[in-house]
Amino acid sequence: MTSLFEYAPAPESRSIVDIRPSYGLFIDGEFTDGTGTPLKTVNPATEEVLSEVATGSTEDVDRAVRAARRAFTRVWGPMRPADRGKYLFRIARLLQERAREFAVLETLDNGKPIRESRDVDVPLAAAHFFYHAGWADKLEHAGLGPAPRPLGVAGQVIPWNFPLLMLAWKVAPALAAGNTVVLKPAETTPLTALLFAEVCRQADLPPGVVNIVTGAGETGRAVISHPDVDKVAFTGSTEVGRSIARAVAGTSKRLTLELGGKAANIVFDDAPVDQAVEGIVRGIFFNQGHVCCAGSRLLVQESVHDDVVAALQRRIGTLRVGDPMDKNTDLGAINSAEQLARITELTAAGDAEGAHRWQPEGELPDRGFWFKPTVFTDVSPAHRIARDEVFGPVLSVMTFRTPDEAVAKANNTTYGLSAGIWSEKGSRILKVTDQLRAGVVWANTFNEFDPTSPFGGYKQSGYGREGGRQGLAAYLSEGHEK
Ligand code: NDP
Repeated sequence: MTSLFEYAPAPESRSIVDIRPSYGLFIDGEFTDGTGTPLKTVNPATEEVLSEVATGSTEDVDRAVRAARRAFTRVWGPMRPADRGKYLFRIARLLQERAREFAVLETLDNGKPIRESRDVDVPLAAAHFFYHAGWADKLEHAGLGPAPRPLGVAGQVIPWNFPLLMLAWKVAPALAAGNTVVLKPAETTPLTALLFAEVCRQADLPPGVVNIVTGAGETGRAVISHPDVDKVAFTGSTEVGRSIARAVAGTSKRLTLELGGKAANIVFDDAPVDQAVEGIVRGIFFNQGHVCCAGSRLLVQESVHDDVVAALQRRIGTLRVGDPMDKNTDLGAINSAEQLARITELTAAGDAEGAHRWQPEGELPDRGFWFKPTVFTDVSPAHRIARDEVFGPVLSVMTFRTPDEAVAKANNTTYGLSAGIWSEKGSRILKVTDQLRAGVVWANTFNEFDPTSPFGGYKQSGYGREGGRQGLAAYLSEGHEK
């Protein structure tokens, strides 16, 4: 896009990663063939095929669950908690040591800017392992009785927006609590999970403690519906989350669901405009808007609407969209052709329903999947772009006059994952926060994540929390002293 200064290209080198032409499933500590039809994973910025990845069938998933059960019963369950912690520390250290490799691979497979995979995804993934390593021998302080017990085998299905980070959110607490894992990465982004499998081997993690079964939705279905899985953890769309809730209902499986969102980012008239604009940009354009807690609905107090929108457009005009491997890039590629089609369809609905679309000038690359940062004004709460999760770099702007109206509009959604408030008044922030039905509320910032802080939603955003002491509860049953 247009910028004040021209930047010289600053491409990260891809030579640090060694992408194999094909990958198998990681079961019982070994890479093995899958019996399903292999799938290809592409670089969404270039459409280049990166590798061919095995697909796990029901039988493969069964092998993985049996390996996880054996490891749980014989090794990981009986192991001294402090020793489990040592493995987690080792994994965390290896993630740090191999951080550059992970970041490059994530960017190639996902399309997100290298700056984000390098500065956010990979360090946070390591932080989750460090944090949970510390918990492993202190579980009696988790608030679940004096001797909480692991659940057994956890079946985990994760999406493509933060492939390694979502793996860490799932695997680290499960292992710290003494469970073993069968994890299915998303079809379009399996590569960092497979590199993580190598890290498990490097850390000498006992075979079967972590199993990674790649494939599409059917493989995910086999994981969550396997009868010997004790706990299901899912992050993804509300629609699939609902089908998983139905599949798990009536079984003894425990379930946590982290689903979609349509967060309100509320800007009051006393907010410092420049700071708020940075937060709005971070809220919706971070990771191309492929973020469940993205601030996709901007609620601006009417008196400052024009100033905020003008400042926002100026700022968006300086964002650099393009090669995700360039260290100066702000917005990378859309993860897949399917996701691009969904964004295109929903934004066309915005045009048709009468909202006003604004996009900065500038060309997008010829190959790959791209969408310009987009702002819709004149949006009404009934428009689809104000209700549906776009999961792309698309902001819907609405106005309000009073704090009560802001709260009413913010809560007028089927979701309840996150929200943001921009105001100089602490008392107003506290009052409004109390009235928002959202799992996470950021004040004068947005999209901040920390392993110590529980994350999760209300309503159709799912249930259960990940991170913090609360996140451990999903992987433990209450224990009582014998
Ligand atoms: P999905 O919910 O389909 O995918 C999430 C994960 O579930 C993937 O690993 C997927 O496999 C797997 N899966 C798909 N179907 C089933 C099933 N029946 N049983 C078990 N696992 C299954 O999300 P999509 O990738 O299709 O994205 C669609 C929309 O969902 C997006 O446009 C966005 O709005 C929303 N979304 C929200 C996310 C969030 O964090 N809140 C994350 C991702 C998407 P596979 O990859 O092969 O499809």
